[in-house]
Amino acid sequence: MDRLLIVSNRLPVTVEKRKNALQFSQSPGGLATGLASFYKSYDCLWIGWPGITAEKITKEERRGIQAKLLSQFNCYPVFLSQNDVDRYYLGFSNKTLWPLFHYFTQYVVHDKGLWDAYKQVNRRFSEVISRIAQKDDIIWIHDYHLMLVPNIVREMLPEVAIGFFNHIPFPSFEIFRLLPWREEILEGLLGADLIGFHTDDYTRHFLSSVHRLLGYENHLGEIHVDDRIIRVDTFPMGIAYERFSSSIQDPQVQKEMSKFHKKLPECKLVLSVDRLDYTKGIPNRLEVFNAFLERNPAYREKVILILVSVPSRTQVQHYKLLKRHVDEFVGRINGTHGTIGWSPIWYLYRSLPFHALSALYNIADVCLVTPLRDGMNLIAKEYISTKSDGRGVLVLSEMTGAAKELGEAIIVNPNNRDEVAAALEKALTMPEEEQIERNRPMQERLQRYDVVRWAKEFKEKLVQMKKRQEDMHARLLSTEMREKLVREYARASKRLLLLDYDGTLIPFFGKPEEAQPGDELIGLLEGLAAHPKNEVVLLSGRTKETLEAWFGTLGIGLVAEHGVWIKEKDWEIIEPLTEDWKQEIRPILELYMDRTPGAFIEEKGFSLVWHYRKASPELSAIRVRELIDELVTLTANLNLQILEGSKVVEIKNSGINKGRAALRWIAKEQWGFIMAAGDDRTDEDMFEVIPEGAYSLKVGLSSSLAGFNLKSHEDVLLLLGELV
Ligand code: UDP
Repeated sequence: MDRLLIVSNRLPVTVEKRKNALQFSQSPGGLATGLASFYKSYDCLWIGWPGITAEKITKEERRGIQAKLLSQFNCYPVFLSQNDVDRYYLGFSNKTLWPLFHYFTQYVVHDKGLWDAYKQVNRRFSEVISRIAQKDDIIWIHDYHLMLVPNIVREMLPEVAIGFFNHIPFPSFEIFRLLPWREEILEGLLGADLIGFHTDDYTRHFLSSVHRLLGYENHLGEIHVDDRIIRVDTFPMGIAYERFSSSIQDPQVQKEMSKFHKKLPECKLVLSVDRLDYTKGIPNRLEVFNAFLERNPAYREKVILILVSVPSRTQVQHYKLLKRHVDEFVGRINGTHGTIGWSPIWYLYRSLPFHALSALYNIADVCLVTPLRDGMNLIAKEYISTKSDGRGVLVLSEMTGAAKELGEAIIVNPNNRDEVAAALEKALTMPEEEQIERNRPMQERLQRYDVVRWAKEFKEKLVQMKKRQEDMHARLLSTEMREKLVREYARASKRLLLLDYDGTLIPFFGKPEEAQPGDELIGLLEGLAAHPKNEVVLLSGRTKETLEAWFGTLGIGLVAEHGVWIKEKDWEIIEPLTEDWKQEIRPILELYMDRTPGAFIEEKGFSLVWHYRKASPELSAIRVRELIDELVTLTANLNLQILEGSKVVEIKNSGINKGRAALRWIAKEQWGFIMAAGDDRTDEDMFEVIPEGAYSLKVGLSSSLAGFNLKSHEDVLLLLGELV
């Protein structure tokens, strides 16, 4: 079985020093508890910070911690100094990424120093990983603290399987683009083979940012970068369902339940549990409750809000202010509405262990989960799972990832106070049959897709991706095949080289005229053409004028406009063609040009080309489909064809293509060696006609009729250089 390395900022075990003695306890939080069962049943090692700063321990203690974590908990510590914690964790992670990704742009700090610390700690994590990891390990990196790690580890260990899961929202492009280091973050993540998010929206947002900022398109969630395919997919995180659903039978939970019952008066219980974080919308919730009490005097002494606020990031200024605000607000509500035997809010500012929390889930009639923004929200899932008799009502904010799966809850917009107050009233009066009817399907879903299934599915998908990568690499021209090719070339007395130009011999430029060949490339073609055994043909979509100007004196064959014009000795047209259709097509292309900033039209002798390389990728993706749709209907009876090349749509007479042009040369001789190289759709026509035994090379990793793939145009040049 492959070993799994889980990497997260915090280890599932926290080390503390109390009265000069080291103590080890379970870390709070959904990931640690959720993965606990999964992690024990696999060969796993967890890498992360144990929660104690380096300054607080001696070197010897450090060694002791490391040994104990490894032997007893399968954990490997990354030690952080107080400065690291301040700048990387409390700083860049929680003052920049956290507010930005939760749409709290007004709280975002842009500080180069914090970014440097983030980079440095990400590198440190990566170094630890690369020291420990072996070739067949699966590395699973978690969350926004470690977004640069996938790419750094990829550079250190190019072959290893790397997955990344983001536990918080991924914001829309409009928000993400605000970050000064946005490209670096995306590039960091793209080091992974599989990138996972909680909801389809976050996945879509990420893909859109990658497209707009780095220019990589995706096909059904797959992105090709260099020689790798990266999969981006949705995996809504589940919880340890059985643990919660059976909690009512746990004597310790029952004990906690009776303790709460003794402390609380006989009345309806509304539960609210979150870390004290501004994204959770706690003040909004208090306002709603206040308004509810004002509007419903009948609920006096009949309802209590149990407000559990878990201390969080207490050194960050916004959290300090929030704490003060919530304390005061709770005091005000209790002061205004309370009576001698009844306080409307029961405020607990602490983290509760599992038994106490489940006891609250068990006794609460309503759970009020109304964050302003939340990646998933496990509280909502835990509450529903706990209600084994089916009773209980969940009021859930539509801004949580969980709302996508828990549609039977009362879904509210947390910013609409009237709506939330009405939802609370509805929840308090909902008939039991309706409660059960709503909860059962949610419970079934939560039981089926629990945390173990979630983790397994992610891991399996990652293994699958690795396999795909390997298959794809098998299609790349291997060293042996390459040597064979060179040998056969050397042996043959008549050799034909069919070469595409743009994307095959030269990279793409914003403007086509910028892709003029340099001296080196010209020298290479000259070298090939000079050999008496060789015939070199350049097959391009460009005009004959351009090809003539750039390559006219090299003594090589030229094909222009994707096969319209052919030059063996002099330029000739492949067959008599018409161009009167242009006046019908041109206005449509012009309309699409005007509607798509950056797009332009090129007119060639017998074709019209709509270029969109410089247009916004997202807009052009839509426009291209629309344009082609319109053209298909229009060209049906005009004997025209529509070709999709690399960021171009070309309309030309049908029956004309590079394959037909290539045949002119293929049929000319008894060739001992034929090689064809090209990168886009229009080159497939050429690959289709080359005879068996010939070499066809596709530049790039996408599938093709060609026999082999090469990673980039640079590999083509190297190969040609070798032939020369
Ligand atoms: N939790 C806990 N004790 C508490 C409050 C919360 O152990 O007093 C746990 C809870 O069971 C849940 C997690 O903390 O698994 C909170 O996860 P959630 O996704 O709701 O919020 P986050 O804190 O990750 O933003």
